[in-house]
Amino acid sequence: MQAIDKDTVHRLCSGQVIVDLTMAVKELVENALDAGATTVDVKLKDSGLTSITVSDNGRGISADDRAHLCRKHWTSKIQSFSDLSSVSTFGFRGEALSSLCAMAKVTVTTATEATAPMGVHLEYDGAGELSSTRPVARERGTTVVLEDLFARWPVRQMDLRKNIRREYLRAVAMVEQYAVVCDEARITMSNRNKSNDPVVAVRTPAGADRLARLVSVLGAQMRPHMTELSATGDSASALDLGLAGYISKPVPEAGRSAADKQYFFVNGRPCDFPRAKKLVNEVFRGYVPGKYPVYAVSIEINRSTVDVNLTPDKRMLLLRHEDEVLGLLEQAVEMAVRPKESVFGVQMVQTQIGAGVKRESSSVPGVIMSSYEKLQDSTNKRLKPLADENLTSLKAAPVTPQPQQQKQHKQQQPASVESRQSTKKPQVVTLGTCRNRVQNDRYAWDSVESRLRLKQQRKERLHEESQRLILEAEEVDPSVLASGLSSNDTTATSALSRLIHKADFAQMTIVGQFNLGFIIARLKDDLYIIDQHASDEKHHFEDLQRRCVIASQPLIRPVQLQMGVVDESVAIECREELERSGFCVEVDEGAEVGERIRLVGQPVVDRVYYDKGDLMDLVGKLAEGQRGVRCERARRVFASRACRKAVMIGHPLDMASMRTIVRQLSDLDHPWNCPHGRPTMRHLYRLQMPE
Ligand code: ADP
Ligand code: MG
Repeated sequence: MQAIDKDTVHRLCSGQVIVDLTMAVKELVENALDAGATTVDVKLKDSGLTSITVSDNGRGISADDRAHLCRKHWTSKIQSFSDLSSVSTFGFRGEALSSLCAMAKVTVTTATEATAPMGVHLEYDGAGELSSTRPVARERGTTVVLEDLFARWPVRQMDLRKNIRREYLRAVAMVEQYAVVCDEARITMSNRNKSNDPVVAVRTPAGADRLARLVSVLGAQMRPHMTELSATGDSASALDLGLAGYISKPVPEAGRSAADKQYFFVNGRPCDFPRAKKLVNEVFRGYVPGKYPVYAVSIEINRSTVDVNLTPDKRMLLLRHEDEVLGLLEQAVEMAVRPKESVFGVQMVQTQIGAGVKRESSSVPGVIMSSYEKLQDSTNKRLKPLADENLTSLKAAPVTPQPQQQKQHKQQQPASVESRQSTKKPQVVTLGTCRNRVQNDRYAWDSVESRLRLKQQRKERLHEESQRLILEAEEVDPSVLASGLSSNDTTATSALSRLIHKADFAQMTIVGQFNLGFIIARLKDDLYIIDQHASDEKHHFEDLQRRCVIASQPLIRPVQLQMGVVDESVAIECREELERSGFCVEVDEGAEVGERIRLVGQPVVDRVYYDKGDLMDLVGKLAEGQRGVRCERARRVFASRACRKAVMIGHPLDMASMRTIVRQLSDLDHPWNCPHGRPTMRHLYRLQMPE
């Protein structure tokens, strides 16, 4: 046995501190903020592949510190372990710059108040030792440049090159968090690719408050959808607990299909807080099923009760009084998103009395108002016409949707979603819109009691699901299966993928039909029971998702969109996907970031116009890396259409049809559940083969 040499240890440890582009950018931004900077400018070349430059106007690095700057565990932020309990800077481990030296070429230009406008240019070697110094002109502050990130780590460098788009967006998302939380600093981030002009990715508005900073990263169109959230803990407690922030209102257009714009800050430190995230999402989804809220929540708590040193990136925190924090958070979120029942009761009566009263009710402010307006909106939208069944004639008939026009076209026949393959006249789908209506109504009509009931149901559902997992782990009783258990995709996938691979469906032999609803199939020694309706439904659903082009209604007056930079980049990158879903956009590369996209064509599905909210929903899914997806509303229409196309329970099937249904499962992306969540198949029985 022998000790690992110093250089190897340095590289091994550094590899864990700077794991990706995001981490490199994060460490430099934190250093700038820790140096008391009021402006921080992040500049990437080729999305960070060529270089990363972070400049600040902070206090600079004194002559005495230059030699130690990039040495492992040298820091100006703490002196001993006990200082950890009161540390208020982002960094304190003294390992970021030293690790960066092992991962990239590091140069620093810096000047302090005393030396400016004279500064120094410093170069460091891979071990973090100062290798050259020369004087330069420099205002007070520091600029750190990283070049050739991961040059000595070929696997990571290759991975970075391959996924540079995604990595870049993740780095932007990280900087956004600091831009939201840092009141005193103005943070900008830009990227320059090859000979192009730099593209600004983050820019905090000057002198902005928390909401303005949040909106600057979410996109200006989110501003009216945000509501304030705050709560204070027990004043007698030494915890000094307090919460403040903003969350999106419980209306579908304010929710996202991905849980990506959700920020937690504990004592000003951006962090991951999985339990809190789950809790907030659950509360919100109690009001708006299927959507995730957008939020930024700052938690202030006695520093001595927080352990910030759990992981090198300091994103995971250990809170000694986590349950108290979660309790207060739940209370604050409920207060912020709960519709105001008393106001609502009056509106309901007014709606029934007649249209004349509707205008008056729109003077009532707050969450209820927007939900009420949404109802009116969606009712109007359902009355809007579809010019023609034919896709091309739709494109040739531009209209800007106006309420009057909607009425004129009321008599026309709808036909907007059309599979290229299908020759059948599409039926009017009402299921999706009915459900929307029910959901919209629900959060508005809810009373406190029904909220409590929902909460209880949520708990029971969780309990039920855990029971079901146990069932699945054992051999399952077919009678239980036949009753059609519902389960979510992940649960079903994990339960089934242990047993069977998709390709195995093609190898199955059909035994026969059971109860006119299920196919019994055999694979080697195992018998499986397959839901004929759910399986066929999923086949039709994926076919529609893949092939269907949604008709687009050109707009006479294009709509200027205001998006967050990540969403905007994704939308530009995935223009074709958007067009397939009927969202035609125009990109103005010269416009301000966040305002580069204009909507020029809007999808129409079964007389319903899809709007910006649906576009954002789709963009959210694309930002998560999903492809071939649709916005939630279109997904529901496809699901309902697939359901009606599929072979029904109670329908006798011959062997050939059963074989087709089972075989086609092997070609699906996700054959384990129908689009409504019902499992398509369960293990039935393991045959005891004679010895
Ligand atoms: P840490 O931030 O944990 O102290 P780092 O390796 O990131 O460790 O930085 C080491 C030290 O270098 C810091 O403690 C700080 O004194 C100094 N430093 C780094 N970046 C800057 C900067 N932008 N401005 C001033 N000082 C800096
Ligand atoms: Mg640091």
